[in-house]
Order: sequence, then C-alpha cells, then structure tokens
Amino acid sequence: MKVVAVANQKGGVGKTTTALNLSAALALRGQRVLLIDLDPQANTTSGLGLDVDGDATVYPALLGEANVRDKIMASGRDNLSVIPSHMDLAGVEIELARGDDHLVRLRTHLQGLKPNDLFDFCLLDTPPSLGVLMTSALAAADEILIPLQCEWFGLEGLAKIVHVIDQIRESGANPDLTLEGIVMTMFDGRTNLAKQVVDEVGNYFPNQLYQTVIPRTIRLGEAPSHAKTIFEHDPDGIGAKAYYGLADEFLTRHAAVGPALA
Ligand code: ADP
Ligand code: MG
Repeated sequence: MKVVAVANQKGGVGKTTTALNLSAALALRGQRVLLIDLDPQANTTSGLGLDVDGDATVYPALLGEANVRDKIMASGRDNLSVIPSHMDLAGVEIELARGDDHLVRLRTHLQGLKPNDLFDFCLLDTPPSLGVLMTSALAAADEILIPLQCEWFGLEGLAKIVHVIDQIRESGANPDLTLEGIVMTMFDGRTNLAKQVVDEVGNYFPNQLYQTVIPRTIRLGEAPSHAKTIFEHDPDGIGAKAYYGLADEFLTRHAAVGPALA
C-alpha cells in the first residue's frame, strides 16, 4: 500500500476534487483504494454522500483510543473504502499538540495497515493549513501529490510546500517523503496565463508535472452537491476524462518504478 497525501496549504486549489476523483478513477481501474478525509471541513466525506459523527473519523485513532483499521468504511463504490471526516476533527489540533509523538501517530497506524495488503493505494485529503493534521499527513505519506491552480499566485504556494516537504524530511519524521507529482487544476485553455503557468511549473519540475491537466468545468464543481464523483455525475464529460487520464498516468508512474512501489 502506497500512501499518497494530496496536499497544498492553500484552500480552493482542487485538493478535495482531486483526492475524490483520482481515488474513484483508480478504484474504477481495479485498484483497491482507501481514501482518508483529514479535513475537518469534510468535503470529501459529503462529496461521497456520507454523513458521520466524530467517532467515525481518524480522531480516536490519532488520540490513541482506537485503531485506524476499525474506522474503515465502505464508500458504496467497488474497490473504494473511506475513513470519513467530521468537523469535530478540528479538535484534534489542540489535543494532539499536547503530545510530542503526535506527528507520527497517523504514520504508525498506516504503517500497521501495510502488511495486511488490503489496499493498493491510500490517498489522504488534507486541510488547507499547516497544522497538526496536515503535518501528520505528510509524516505518514510515502508520496505527496500537489494540486496547483493555474494562477501565478499558485507558484508562490508551490515554493512554500516544497519547503515544507524539506522540513518534514529534515525533521526525521519522514526522511523518505517524495514529491510524487504536481497536477494543474482548473485549467482554462482560453487564457495565455494558464498556459504560461503550466509551462513555468514544467520548467522547474519536468519530472513531477503531470501531462494531464484538469480543466475548469462546471460539472466538476457541481458533482459534490449531488454526492457524486465525476464518474457518476458526468461519466462522458471532460472532467471524467481528465481524472481517468490522471489515474492512468499515476498508475504508469507507479508501475515504472518497479516492485518496491507495488
Ligand atoms: P480544496 O480541497 O483545495 O479546498 P476543492 O477541490 O474543494 O479545493 O475545490 C474548490 C472549489 O472549486 C470547490 O467548490 C470545487 O467543487 C471547485 N472545483 C475544483 N476543481 C474544479 C474544476 N476543475 N472545475 C471547476 N470547479 C472546480
Ligand atoms: Mg478540500
């Protein structure tokens, strides 16, 4: 099981949309996926049509009162399991800040899941802040996937998160964390700016930038309000096509690296 944190400390850049629809696409491609919602805003959870209480989240596991394994739920979709979120999860920031092992709690739980071979991939949707939940996710992840909006100010955010990755590595919490990829989101092909931003990211991160670019489309924006993934809401549209493309590129990358990543 590879653990992939979908992260960017900026809000509204397409983290949840990507975590949800990439997970759904991987599941449709036959991969066994566990999607963990670590954002107290619980947008991934509601986007899947789930409504739970705080006890159903990773919160008790992070506090050492439960095992993450016991919080895994069916999403109602083949191959896709989930650990949902609830706004109570926000309280974990305060609770966890008291302990000194808080950074590695999630990591320990997820490492414990690996030998069970229940999942091929575990995706983490993360909150838009550099708090305990986000750093726990980065400490727990094998890889980070950064969704980046096609705007100039997105590039500033990118520099910052790359710095945070370095800090996590150097802290010793997760020396092997790798930057798996950067996916450009909300692309509007009518503007030169969007194309320039994609080119600029490609200049700095040629091996990390995904060829697949996620277009801005109303269908992707409205799918969560119907509690549907893009494959349920608009299966033949450009949003579904893009997230299938992203999943296929993701799988090619992971197969290419060899058995160590399988
Ligand atoms: P984050 O999780 O980073 O805060 P979201 O994935 O929730 O970002 O996206 C922010 C908002 O933009 C949401 O309302 C979402 O539905 C919408 N959105 C995300 N991606 C797209 C897209 N490609 N096209 C149109 N709307 C999008
Ligand atoms: Mg989100």
